[in-house]
Amino acid sequence: MFYYRYPKIHGLPSAMIPALVGLRHGLREAMSYEATASEIGRIRARINTMGLYSAIGGKHRYEQERFFLYIARQSKVVQQCLRAERRDPETLGRIFGYPECCISSFLHRWRQHKIDGNSGEPDFPYLAFSNTRRRPRPEINNLLWYMNDSRTPYYLISHFPCSYRCKKSLDYAKNIDRLINDEYSRLARRIRAYLCLPILLFPNNNRGIRDENNGFVFSGQSDGLWIIYNDVHPLRTARSTRAFMNGNRLHNMNRKIDIYHNGRLVGSIPKNHRLEAVILPFDP
Ligand SMILES: [Zn+2]
Repeated sequence: MFYYRYPKIHGLPSAMIPALVGLRHGLREAMSYEATASEIGRIRARINTMGLYSAIGGKHRYEQERFFLYIARQSKVVQQCLRAERRDPETLGRIFGYPECCISSFLHRWRQHKIDGNSGEPDFPYLAFSNTRRRPRPEINNLLWYMNDSRTPYYLISHFPCSYRCKKSLDYAKNIDRLINDEYSRLARRIRAYLCLPILLFPNNNRGIRDENNGFVFSGQSDGLWIIYNDVHPLRTARSTRAFMNGNRLHNMNRKIDIYHNGRLVGSIPKNHRLEAVILPFDP
């Protein structure tokens, strides 16, 4: 089920493709990609031959070896991105085609985070989860941007949704899915399959690295309390999967996560409170 290496498409990292498809088809005016110094030249040359413009922005806040590369269909939009970077997230969000409801909830969460005297970043996936009534929609699953700490092409939206049932995000995701399917049907099928996998999400603990997607993705099925699985991988940070690999079914309770193998209890992870780990059952 899981892949560690993602194929290059047209000489570009496949992790760029869903955003790039949206850009080329006018669903967004610009996009950004966090590229290392060694890959940036190649990506820009390739982008250039596609008739797109690019500019190198600032360094990534936590991953200092990565730079933001802004890409747009018009050179003036690339300049707008550079001006808005870090100073004007609202404008940047609009240029990137993010829904207004998600931009305002993003900004509201940032403000509240500062008012509450916190450092680091707000825990956006957790906040989106807590704002989600009923089952989260797999199309707007944005937790697989990274798997095993590597960038993946398994996303349709590239923003933090206001909730995992945000209607505007869902419309955007459905359009992107259709466009990817027209051009790269194999990739579209893979994206759909991955976005439906259940995720066990832990709170971001602001340890100085970007770990907002602090959790695990399971190859399996879930009802929101249980996950039945045959494989597991960490998302953003290199967390050990050993406890889960011993079993094939887990039960997420208020104060602990019990892990079973063929019905036999093989492990237990304590929790301090109910929300310390939550299951996002993206499987439909
Ligand atoms: Zn929204």
